Amino acid sequence: MTEINEVENIEKKGLNFVEQLVAEDLQAGKNGGRLNTRFPPEPNGYLHIGHAKAICMDFGIAEKFGGTCNLRFDDTNPVKEDVEYVDAIKEDIHWLGFDWEDREYYASDYFPQLYDLAIRLIKEGKAYVDDQTSEEIASQKGSPTIPGTNSPYRNRSIEENLDLFQRMNAGEFEEGARVLRAKIDMSSSNMHFRDPIMYRIIKHPHHRTGNKWNVYPMYDFAHGQSDYFEGVTHSICTLEFVPHRPLYEYYVKELADETYCPRQIEFNRLNLTYTVMSKRKLLQLVQEGLVAGWDDPRMPTISGMRRRGYTPQSIKNFISTIGYTKYEALNSISLLEHAVREDLNKVSTRVMAVINPIKVVITNYPEGASEMVEMENNPEDPNSGNHSMPFSREIYIERDDFMENPPKKFFRLSPDGEVRLKGAYIIKCTGVKKDTDGNIEEIYCTYDPDTRSGLPGSARKVKGTLHWVSAQHAIDATVRLYDRLFEVENPAAETDRDFREMLNSNSLSVVEGIKVEPFIAENATQGHKFQFQRIGYFTPDYDSSAGNLIFNRTIALKDSWEKTQKK
Ligand code: ATP
Ligand code: MG
Repeated sequence: MTEINEVENIEKKGLNFVEQLVAEDLQAGKNGGRLNTRFPPEPNGYLHIGHAKAICMDFGIAEKFGGTCNLRFDDTNPVKEDVEYVDAIKEDIHWLGFDWEDREYYASDYFPQLYDLAIRLIKEGKAYVDDQTSEEIASQKGSPTIPGTNSPYRNRSIEENLDLFQRMNAGEFEEGARVLRAKIDMSSSNMHFRDPIMYRIIKHPHHRTGNKWNVYPMYDFAHGQSDYFEGVTHSICTLEFVPHRPLYEYYVKELADETYCPRQIEFNRLNLTYTVMSKRKLLQLVQEGLVAGWDDPRMPTISGMRRRGYTPQSIKNFISTIGYTKYEALNSISLLEHAVREDLNKVSTRVMAVINPIKVVITNYPEGASEMVEMENNPEDPNSGNHSMPFSREIYIERDDFMENPPKKFFRLSPDGEVRLKGAYIIKCTGVKKDTDGNIEEIYCTYDPDTRSGLPGSARKVKGTLHWVSAQHAIDATVRLYDRLFEVENPAAETDRDFREMLNSNSLSVVEGIKVEPFIAENATQGHKFQFQRIGYFTPDYDSSAGNLIFNRTIALKDSWEKTQKK
């Protein structure tokens, strides 16, 4: 007996609080021991990293306990919704590695049942048509400490309510002319109980139901019942819905019984530093051309992160690091970036690219000659193998890796100094050529032929190792370097400023004419992850083609940004 309890307790320790609640319900045999969750996006924008947190919860918990998770589009507001978003949402969930099989549902599928329920509630005296404007209704709401005022239409006869509601749906009245409200309690301490609106008139074609309906249910009247119609047992959402929960339960009780009743559980939203997470604001950035689209690599959207080169695993690892709690917090984007680096370190191919090239001529290497040297593809992955890279008399190194008058402890190249060219030879600087303004145009070196790996001299140690590419073989490419989208840590908190004023004007810089080794060009397929050694992680952008290579810098090798901010 004690042993079993102990095992149970140990198991519980590894569970977050939502998982614990679900485990308890399953153990108690609620809903016939079924677990069915849902992820309910509104198709009014692309998914962002906050949605990924909800997806990992909704799909993840179903996987963990052998349940199922539905994909349900919460499409109750035709004005803002579009099929473009439906398609993008599906692609993003699949990319994250989750699948809803045949359980793709739409709240609009339930419009007939919801309408029938509304009619029933009218007949039972639990709902009425209010002719007041939204301003009048708002002015009667009261405050949490002051009771509201009853609408003058509250005691309409059932017949009149039925007639008006049906005519609302028939399209007889203009938008805003009337609403259907639940008749609950205008003095409830929960503001959501003060005769909440159930239906409003919207005369805009719906992306699925066309012009069939002229009344559309409010979120609160649709969500719980949709859960019920679908067989959802656990409706997991974010903390802002805590005050809505009593209303969720109120409506669901109209349908449920002791054998099956969906339950709402709330966890904290994901908020990230240096970005915004509101779909309305993200839409504004897209519509006003302040970013290149929903999948702009600077956006906190899943599609933006995919384009930028983030892996699904890194997003999941980040989400499991921050966990699920019952209080709101702001998470550092550095934590996400750390997870991205960790995963890319495991999976990316090591290659050489020179971002700011300067030519080095190796004067004692035969003219016209070249040879291949072997490069390890990924020291983190023993099965990744090697690739060969050409070496020749003229190479490119980074301009920053040479200094004519270096300070102490500069271990890169300088006059009379020696460095190793990674995977190849040790070279020694013998001179430079300058233009008339004194800028260095070329560097001259000699190489030590004994120091190639595999030869006896390869053991000789020098302090610096540089990346390089053979000038004759290198291919030109462009890189797009990204920085934080916003220059303030928490744009949403700066309520007195327009969020667009806080955009970081240096969030994108484009560098053309970088030099990459041929292997990069040969493998620049969509989704390929490279580590440009000593520089960062890169992936081909969607705009990249064989004749015009364009790479996104997913992330620099180190978090240099945090350091510069602290100065
Ligand atoms: P809206 O303001 O348009 O309602 P929303 O971000 O809530 O935007 P939905 O499409 O309604 O978007 O969200 C679908 C699901 O994702 C909901 O269950 C919601 O709670 C969850 N979700 C949305 N934003 C976050 C976030 N930042 N962190 C965690 N979950 C989120
Ligand atoms: Mg929402």
